[in-house]
Amino acid sequence: MKKLFNKSYKGRIRMFVFVTLALTLAVLIYNGESLYISHGEENVVEVSNSNPVLTGTSTQIYKYVNPYYAECEYIYDDTMYEDEVEITQEEQAGTKETTVVETFYNGEIQERKMLDSEIIDEAVPRVVHIGTKERPLYILPVENYILSSGFGPRWGTNHNGIDMAVPTGTEVMASADGIVIQSGWNGGYGISVYIDHENGVITRYGHMSQTLVSVGQRVSQGDIIGLSGSTGDSTGPHVHFEMREDGAAFDPIRYVNY
Ligand SMILES: [Zn+2]
Repeated sequence: MKKLFNKSYKGRIRMFVFVTLALTLAVLIYNGESLYISHGEENVVEVSNSNPVLTGTSTQIYKYVNPYYAECEYIYDDTMYEDEVEITQEEQAGTKETTVVETFYNGEIQERKMLDSEIIDEAVPRVVHIGTKERPLYILPVENYILSSGFGPRWGTNHNGIDMAVPTGTEVMASADGIVIQSGWNGGYGISVYIDHENGVITRYGHMSQTLVSVGQRVSQGDIIGLSGSTGDSTGPHVHFEMREDGAAFDPIRYVNY
């Protein structure tokens, strides 16, 4: 404080400004004006009489029009997965008219009471859908397909996955969250992606026309990792989908949810 208001020219100016502001504030508070402002005087649409009497008790009735908001609505939705949240309706403010009576004694406000509150325009609530459906651990990489070859013995060897016939260029999705450990040409698999799900399970996606991920990339279930095709040992456009646990292939059809 001493440094701020020292006897230098600048110090005196600061002191003058400080005292002027303090006096203005004191006058405002004394007149009760700051009370009105804090109650939203700018929204007043009607006042019963202009000034309270300076001696004895008087009252004033105010009508305010203010915006108001409806309470958010939450809807639990079993058509959405449990980690999904969707806003299906945005909120819109409504308007409300509030009637207030203020009681004064010797011109100073003593009491403030709400007499009535009336909605002029109904507010529209925000509607939020919250998913409750349990997310499957693994999903199939494409949705509309024809199973052209199942898992198991084929042509004297073992077919280590399932073949899902789809048109070339179909988006291929990650079966579950994980890290990409192979992306690009890979022998008989052609252009392929492998994803490590960090629980001993690896999924493989073969014969694609293009990959859209790179090794080391973290992906989430449903992310588009490439486009289907017929590269490598393939006789027609399809996705070869393979699941392996600790290196051993198993039939994905038994484990994925549709
Ligand atoms: Zn195959």
